[in-house]
Amino acid sequence: MPHRVTLIPGDGIGPEVAEAAVRVLEATGVPIEWERVELNEEMILAAGGRIPEPVLASLHRTLVGLKGPVTTPVAGGFRSLNVQLRKALDLYANVRPVRRLPGLKTRYQDTPIDIIIFRENTEDLYSGLENEVVDGVVTSLKVITRRASTRIARYAFQYARKLGRKKITAIHKANIMKLGDGLFLECCRQVAQDFEEIQYTELIVDNAAMQLVMRPEQFDILLMPNLYGDIISDLAAGLVGGLGIVPGANMGDEHAVFEAVHGSAPDIAGRGVANPTALLQSAVLMLLHLGEEAAAMRIERALEAVHSEGKHLTRDLGGSATTREFTTAVIEKL
Ligand code: ATP
Repeated sequence: MPHRVTLIPGDGIGPEVAEAAVRVLEATGVPIEWERVELNEEMILAAGGRIPEPVLASLHRTLVGLKGPVTTPVAGGFRSLNVQLRKALDLYANVRPVRRLPGLKTRYQDTPIDIIIFRENTEDLYSGLENEVVDGVVTSLKVITRRASTRIARYAFQYARKLGRKKITAIHKANIMKLGDGLFLECCRQVAQDFEEIQYTELIVDNAAMQLVMRPEQFDILLMPNLYGDIISDLAAGLVGGLGIVPGANMGDEHAVFEAVHGSAPDIAGRGVANPTALLQSAVLMLLHLGEEAAAMRIERALEAVHSEGKHLTRDLGGSATTREFTTAVIEKL
């Protein structure tokens, strides 16, 4: 039986990196029946700022998606589609493994970096609740609930237990947001009590940013509310070669949507130079979710081989290969 997967190429560099992922997945021989659904800025505008129905209908059928980025307008315009999708499917856990690819030359190439970020995916300042009180005064509501905080904490601890990871650090700013981030920490502490074998620590977000730059090797699993997760993920991506590298998974109890950490990169879109590694690594996470461990490992090893050889790197990593050339090199290594 083939796996049925919803493919959402997205916009910007999305279609270019999605094509790369489909080519590599096909080359593994894993039978996948794609349900391809289009999603881009114009379509969302035409649908009144909402996710078009066929996208949700497909994901309800397949329960698994591989998704490219979709542009969100800055300031005005519609509400982020990524945020809408995560809410609509209750994809409450955003999982982002940040790992140094063996052989890839980066600023931290001699530092063992193997961090997994768990980002709460449904609330916090992403609630979309903003209010212009009077002209020139705006409030943005940061929503933290016991339910969502406990859920993401439990997800992270269970994941850590399954993988035999040793330490979880909760990231917060509870010295300032005493109630909101205070509640988040209270939930993490409560859950930690059920996982005695895992060391639990806490770190204020600004200190965490500095520590990540100074001594990233000290971190194992990072657990945090939505907005810190967004910012710390990009910082962490910078430690291992940038946004072209780091994959992600949006997990719910029923659905799973796999997508790179990066956005639609309008500055390089349409030029065939984007690095597809981040979406390819997201596809690896998807294969693991589908129970296709052998194919996942083959892609991982092929990526490592191409990066350590260094002959077919894309421009973001100092090479001159196009997206297609890089992808062909990966397929040859499979
Ligand atoms: P968003 O807020 O939508 O997540 P962002 O602000 O993180 O987006 P991106 O669109 O991810 O921004 O792009 C940030 C920078 O990283 C840009 O200069 C872009 O070209 C670069 N970049 C992002 N993804 C890739 C990629 N796959 N390959 C090469 N460069 C990339």
